[in-house]
Amino acid sequence: MKSVSNPHDCREELRRLEMRVTPARLGVLDVLEHAEVPLDVSTVIAYLDKQQIPADEVTVFRILNAFSKKGLIRPVQFNEGKLRYEYADKPPHHHFICEQCGSVSDVEGCVVGELEKQIEKKTGARVTRHSLEFFGICRRCGV
Ligand SMILES: [Zn+2]
Ligand SMILES: [Zn+2]
Repeated sequence: MKSVSNPHDCREELRRLEMRVTPARLGVLDVLEHAEVPLDVSTVIAYLDKQQIPADEVTVFRILNAFSKKGLIRPVQFNEGKLRYEYADKPPHHHFICEQCGSVSDVEGCVVGELEKQIEKKTGARVTRHSLEFFGICRRCGV
């Protein structure tokens, strides 16, 4: 389920968001769009390096922040002390991470909405987002 009409036209996507097309932005979008799992910043930088796209860490951080604000990508937290980013072509979801092999799978469906409503009712606060990932041993690693 892609929300973008032509998922491979990153240029068009940037223009639609009124963002200037730069090699670094195209590179970041490209690697995240084709990644099977959420990527951390150093993986994104390594990809740009390999493609010989000049971009330092600060630039990449800025691009990731800008894309997150536009809703193009989503930050994901796997309790590693760093953020990862995921291309936002699917509805918000959670992940299962195998603590043995590190494999990541998407957990479809979110049941936290009800809990958010309860929190809002009890505290009068407005919940804007949540982060919930699951850890364990995957089928391949288990028994
Ligand atoms: Zn595993
Ligand atoms: Zn995911």
